[in-house]
Amino acid sequence: MKHETIRACSIWRALDVVGDVPVMLILEQAFLGHHRFEEFVAEAGLARSVVSNRLAGLVKAGVLAKPVGRRGGYSLTEMGRDLFQVALTIRRWQHRWEPGERDISVRLVHLDCGASIKPQARCGVCREEVDPRAVDWAPGPGLAQVTPVYTRRRQQTAAASAKRGTRTMVDSVIELFGDRWATLVVRACFTGINRFDEIQRDTLMATNILSGRIERLLAQGIIKAVPYSAHQDRFEYRLTEKGRDLYPVLLALLQWGDRWFADEKGPPLLLTHRSCGNPLVMVIACSHCGGSLEPANTAFDGNVSGNAPA
Ligand SMILES: [Zn+2]
Ligand SMILES: [Zn+2]
Repeated sequence: MKHETIRACSIWRALDVVGDVPVMLILEQAFLGHHRFEEFVAEAGLARSVVSNRLAGLVKAGVLAKPVGRRGGYSLTEMGRDLFQVALTIRRWQHRWEPGERDISVRLVHLDCGASIKPQARCGVCREEVDPRAVDWAPGPGLAQVTPVYTRRRQQTAAASAKRGTRTMVDSVIELFGDRWATLVVRACFTGINRFDEIQRDTLMATNILSGRIERLLAQGIIKAVPYSAHQDRFEYRLTEKGRDLYPVLLALLQWGDRWFADEKGPPLLLTHRSCGNPLVMVIACSHCGGSLEPANTAFDGNVSGNAPA
């Protein structure tokens, strides 16, 4: 019997921890400064059972630390704080492509320059903005194959995990990365795998599930169908500009996965920034002064009508 495996790059390993809609909503609240169980329930609009289940999982994974004492809250560990880039790249995409109520209610302030800013994804060496077309991917020494296990929990949507009588507001970028199947389709497109049967081989999804994810990504304007033969029913799926702009989110997941899950063999994927010839290390930079954004020099400010610097 042949072993059915897929590429276990660090994106996959990272998604094993954070690729879940309720988990992403809880982490978002943690970065906004919420720590307590009741705050997660209220702010993320999730059912109590879902919050308690996901908090336990995040503690077990090492992303959150349990409350100390009766009145303490959950805190981000070093591993959890290191998801800051992922949070910023998600916010960056959201702000650019689907700004909404959730987006404008929180401002991001770079404390080093004092400006209210947008995060930008840049090469850590040459500081050029990261464009996937200027990055080469090669298999690294740690690339392994895994047999994917798709559990039911992973498919839980925001609607299913919402509190009774409420509708959880979820950005489509969270819905997308909260679903490992959709993310694998996007990963395939970024690595030059564009046809239905090739994506199916790369992801090992059942064809009906793959069809469903492709339909949703088409409806969201993340990918487009391009005919590749004279027969009009032969399509390949290519990323749109909106889809290509998800690249920094994937890179942030990859870098987080490399830092926390790579084995001694080395990283599973090697990225080269063709513009400068160096291994690509993405940094998230301030749109105002160009400095790198870190948890320590960045603040979220909920007061939109407040004293925005000029
Ligand atoms: Zn560069
Ligand atoms: Zn700045």
